[in-house]
Amino acid sequence: MLCVKCKKEIDDGDNFCGYCGINQKKYKKYLDKINNKIHKEQDKEYKTKVKNAQKKLNKLKNSREIEINRITNNRWQSIGSDSFSFNMTEGKIIVNNSTYLFSDIKGAEIVEQDSFRTITNATETVKGKSRKHASLGGGLLGAAVAGPVGAVVGGTVLGTTKQKGKTNTVINSNDIPTCYHIGVNVNINDFNTEIVLLSKTVDQSSLIYSNAVKSAQSIVDKLRILSRTPVPKKYLQPEEEQSVLNIDKEIEIATKELKVVMDDKPTYEIPEKYL
Ligand SMILES: [Zn+2]
Repeated sequence: MLCVKCKKEIDDGDNFCGYCGINQKKYKKYLDKINNKIHKEQDKEYKTKVKNAQKKLNKLKNSREIEINRITNNRWQSIGSDSFSFNMTEGKIIVNNSTYLFSDIKGAEIVEQDSFRTITNATETVKGKSRKHASLGGGLLGAAVAGPVGAVVGGTVLGTTKQKGKTNTVINSNDIPTCYHIGVNVNINDFNTEIVLLSKTVDQSSLIYSNAVKSAQSIVDKLRILSRTPVPKKYLQPEEEQSVLNIDKEIEIATKELKVVMDDKPTYEIPEKYL
């Protein structure tokens, strides 16, 4: 057999080497211990390297997804409510969660349903005159638009009455104009779908009301423009945008790096210093 240390031929069963004097059993035990230690260390190092390379790659893949989402979302703008958004890059609109092309828009009109609420109160006056006053006011929602898209103009009634009481008490009764529904009816290829902007009763003097009216008008105006805007024949998919392509390059490099790291498996060579 060969000496476990100096590798010179020694007799079988010799515990001590005649050349280097090493105790064969003891030295074998020592080598096994070193071997285990080296395996553990190198396995750990290898795993850490693979893990880090994998982490780097995953991070890049994640940022690619985020970037694609960012680009996709940036292409969409909404007006007034989440029920209506449009995409100039792709020539699309989303109405009530359904997607259509600009060329599908055949018309749009504002729908408004008004009412009023009456409030009465009594006030003391000195010989007040009996007066009666009523006026009709129009709830004009802006000029009707020409072309395929038109606006329906809603009307409101505004009235004030004053009556003299038997004494010096005057009963005031006021009709406050209210509105309980505002929407935009969109004609999509002769199928109507409504973008609801207001669905509860509010005073017409309220901010909610005026905002809903403004939104409705903006949506109709926008739809009119979009219906006349050509649908782009070609546009870049989000994953074709340069910022995504840049990440793709980084992913390619990181993928190669990971392969190199994975292929670099430990050889478990015992360093000189242990021998
Ligand atoms: Zn020896």
